[in-house]
Amino acid sequence: AVEVRDVHKFYGDFHALRGVNLKIARGEVCVAIGPSGSGKSTLLRCINQLETISAGRIYLNGELQGYREINGKLYELSPRQIAQQRRRTGMVFQRFNLFPHMTALENTIEGPVQVKRQIKAEAIERGMALLERVGMSGLEKRYPNQLSGGQQQRVAIARALAMDPEVMLFDEPTSALDPELVGEVLDVIKDLARTGMTMMLVTHEIGFAREVADQLVFMDNGMIVESGSPYDVLTNPQEARTQAFLSKVL
Ligand code: ATP
Ligand code: MG
Repeated sequence: AVEVRDVHKFYGDFHALRGVNLKIARGEVCVAIGPSGSGKSTLLRCINQLETISAGRIYLNGELQGYREINGKLYELSPRQIAQQRRRTGMVFQRFNLFPHMTALENTIEGPVQVKRQIKAEAIERGMALLERVGMSGLEKRYPNQLSGGQQQRVAIARALAMDPEVMLFDEPTSALDPELVGEVLDVIKDLARTGMTMMLVTHEIGFAREVADQLVFMDNGMIVESGSPYDVLTNPQEARTQAFLSKVL
């Protein structure tokens, strides 16, 4: 589960998150939509500590992220402790972030072998199974430049899963893809949702959001303006800003 409690984020003077509250239950899929610059990526990056938050608290399965709290006072964790916490979330970005000089399989086992110190033979066995799960059987030995964008994104998902994350975060995983490749990546994400993985996904694919989201949040101007079931937010939005956004994208 993820709990974001009154989180603020400043970039210099710029107030990018303005008091965000969000709960994602274990096994739940939360989808964030909203206009460009509304803070969606910033929120994901704060959840997995690519950014430090300026105020508030973020908990992952009950554990405060980035700090230890003693008698109401916060003490920063060491870089090593933060790195350890960060491993509990897997993140997939818009642009493929595979290592170009490694095959699909090598990309997938890199983290388990280098970071988790898994035995290589075991990491390979698991990596092969994960690649199969994302529909990449037979392509394990290909390098990223020998794969389509959709295939690369599926390897990126397998690579994230190889670290056994408790939460998966996706930041517009299909928006850099040719339209005909979007479906295959969304299918993998849908599959993952069915297995009960806790996930947060930022997307412009409203149809997909409707299909996969347990909780849909609409962000604007650094705030969650509205949240609820896809029906609540997409079909029956209460806020004028949500209505205005939807009238442009639906
Ligand atoms: P998009 O849909 O275009 O991806 P977004 O909702 O993900 O937008 P963010 O990337 O979270 O938006 O950015 C929120 C705001 O914070 C934007 O105004 C952006 O310019 C600003 N911002 C993001 N990262 C930084 C940074 N490193 N330094 C300064 N400002 C930043
Ligand atoms: Mg973004």
